[in-house]
Amino acid sequence: MIGIVVVSHSEKLAQGVLELASQMTRGAVPMQAVGGIDDPDNPIGTDPMQVLAAIEAVAATADDGVLVLMDLGSALLSAETALDFLDETVRAKVLLCSAPVVEGTVAAAVQATVGASLAQASAEARAALGVKIAQLAPLTGEAPETPSPAGAPAPVAPAAGQERTLALRIANKNGLHARPAAALVATAGRFAADIVVRKGEAAASAKSINQVALLGIKRGDDIIIAAAGPDAEAALAAIAALHADHFGERDEDVAEAPAAPPTAPQPAGDGVLAGAPASAGPAVGPAHVHRAGLPEITRRETDDPAREIARLDAALAQARAELEALSHRAARASDKAAAGIFEVHALLLGDDDLRRAAVARIEAEKVEAAYAWNAVMEETAAAYRKLSDGYMQARAADVLDSGTRVLRLLTGETAAPIRLARPSILVVGELSPSEAAGLDPALVLGIAAEAGGATAHAAILARSLGIPAVVGLGQGLRTVVQGQMLVLDGQAGTVLTAPDDAACRAAQDKRRAWTAAREAARAKGTAPAATRDGTVIPVMANIGGPADAARALTAGADGVGLFRTEFLFLERESAPSEDEQYAAYVAAAEAMAGRPVIIRTLDIGGDKPVAYLDTPREDNPFLGQRGARFCLARPALLRTQLRALWRAAAGRDIWIMYPMISDVAELRAVLAAQEAARRELAGEGIDVPAKVKTGIMIEVPAAAAMADKLAGLCDFLSIGTNDLTQYVMAADRGNPAVAGLCDSLHPAVLRLIARTCQAGAAAGIEVGMCGELAGEAKAAPLLLGLGLVELSMSAGLVPEVKEAVRGANLAACRALAQKALACDTAGEVRALLG
Ligand code: PEP
Ligand code: MG
Repeated sequence: MIGIVVVSHSEKLAQGVLELASQMTRGAVPMQAVGGIDDPDNPIGTDPMQVLAAIEAVAATADDGVLVLMDLGSALLSAETALDFLDETVRAKVLLCSAPVVEGTVAAAVQATVGASLAQASAEARAALGVKIAQLAPLTGEAPETPSPAGAPAPVAPAAGQERTLALRIANKNGLHARPAAALVATAGRFAADIVVRKGEAAASAKSINQVALLGIKRGDDIIIAAAGPDAEAALAAIAALHADHFGERDEDVAEAPAAPPTAPQPAGDGVLAGAPASAGPAVGPAHVHRAGLPEITRRETDDPAREIARLDAALAQARAELEALSHRAARASDKAAAGIFEVHALLLGDDDLRRAAVARIEAEKVEAAYAWNAVMEETAAAYRKLSDGYMQARAADVLDSGTRVLRLLTGETAAPIRLARPSILVVGELSPSEAAGLDPALVLGIAAEAGGATAHAAILARSLGIPAVVGLGQGLRTVVQGQMLVLDGQAGTVLTAPDDAACRAAQDKRRAWTAAREAARAKGTAPAATRDGTVIPVMANIGGPADAARALTAGADGVGLFRTEFLFLERESAPSEDEQYAAYVAAAEAMAGRPVIIRTLDIGGDKPVAYLDTPREDNPFLGQRGARFCLARPALLRTQLRALWRAAAGRDIWIMYPMISDVAELRAVLAAQEAARRELAGEGIDVPAKVKTGIMIEVPAAAAMADKLAGLCDFLSIGTNDLTQYVMAADRGNPAVAGLCDSLHPAVLRLIARTCQAGAAAGIEVGMCGELAGEAKAAPLLLGLGLVELSMSAGLVPEVKEAVRGANLAACRALAQKALACDTAGEVRALLG
């Protein structure tokens, strides 16, 4: 593969370009950015020696040469000078490219992923500006240049008669814009077949990012993929899978239904309300009308503005802390949609402009914080609503939701919770994301909302919960009264407010068929996952509390592979008592109906401070007192948890697991504490089992290195790839700047996984995995080949991983693992997985 060096006068610009290109190519292409000079007073400039070093570094891993893209002026000179200093053999494989730096780098990087030569990648890079000119031509009136990159595959039709075709409708909100187009090109590039994308009369090579971009494929467009060649069928299957995965875009970037223009709200009267389809599916049932309302805010003056400002700051800080905890929790449960939404809300509250505006009001008008904050929040939401872009309008709901959280803290008024006594269709003014996140799909048959848009965060959450929803139904919905029968169609975006018997019956039938289809898909998920050669692999779920256990069971999990107990400790004023913990552990085990439940002791520390636990501030919290280290330093806390665990384990298949174990002494110490707790309980005459299966997480490189010793002391190992990867690669798992390095498929991480599996097998104990990598269905054959015998992931991913296991053959998996272990980079491993 070729590599890329980006040279700019500005380090930030060079890094930014690199980040953009890496994001599109998932870090598969060796790239380096060089920018700025080593002069703090005047950092803008270019340094030939830095360019030289970057080219040498990239050339070391890029066998097919290095393409250098530069911004302007001295960047070109520096690159040329660097060439003069290069060793002759390296210089022969370096090409300076005249393309514009941003468009060119992205185009060249995408082409690199499909094995383009230096000349081909350079030609695509140069043609990228033509794509932009053509796309803007209708607005600028400039003559569109149709780029025909030399060396790029021509958009010729595959030989008629031999071609196979695939018809696709594009659901991505922004069509096949740069990122999804890059994903399509990367997938097509893995196959030898000639692959063409057709939109109407126009055709493009699926292996050229520029040609695909020039087709201007939009949401709702129908396209044909035609392929001819020995692997044409496999290529079309891969593209079909990519399309089903929305070209790698997140849920919120994808429209559920085809691009139907949102219908304007209609008043009730003829018994039909039309709104925006927000979550597909039919529902029929009585209305549950919920009118939450905002806290009552009256204008009250104050004689102490400083005190009001301090109250506002405290409320803002607490609201942000609550949102960050919610985001953290969602992220750990792999609910990316919810995690992202709460993160956005926390960011909104961190916007200094909002605070400044509220403070100015408090000071100028001498009013209480609640009044000032409410006014600023309403003004900001109104400003969003006025924007012409529908997506931006929908952000008004986010401002109000996050802002109301602050208002409630200021007024002490709590929100009236949504409580449904029986299965009903929820009728609301506008559902907030916080409310949507708490809905129970067993009781909420559907959601009908007066306001809101299909891209609002509440709608995204409804989709992820599988609850049919129609939003933006307008004021006509206000005529609906408690218990009134409704028929809702989340696909069409309609609500019947006076359905007759026939309409109700038809809707019931539709709902039954819809539910049956969903259940059939789930049922397949609950069957055990055995490889083609008959080895059954338990596929378990990661949970954060007993409520998640029920969801795990429905998703078909064979047990719980990781119960993150820290969630029992977050968002409260004091630690849960032994009895509270006992109740939670029992509830999770009972919900799993006899399946094993692996409960991890408290994994908390400097990175997740909990005020009442007196967590010290640390300079390097990830390298500080985390997990087992934290608990060993607080014996009373550990003792309470262990007592609760022993009690819950009586008569239940509960296993105990310790996080962040770094060495044998630590493991001995927790085992001693565990045994002491057992004896204590037995001495009190409390029913405890003689033994409980006990294991540790392997998430510190030292533990992987010492896995043979540790395996001799416990009953199972579970690999936590999230932490293991960040510690092995020295790349913070939460830092986007090093996300490319923090890849669990890096051969360095795989080698430690293989080593751990070998140690477990030699000691005769099971080795499982509960880090995020276990949920990557594509990686399942590799993981089985490395020797893992159990996989645990977020519940939603269980069915796909089970399917992947069912398709695997252990002998082939082992061969694949050997190949992966011999790879140089994570990109190469990904390429192996297809
Ligand atoms: C891990 O580190 O892989 C893991 C599962 O633990 P957590 O994500 O809770 O740190
Ligand atoms: Mg961890």
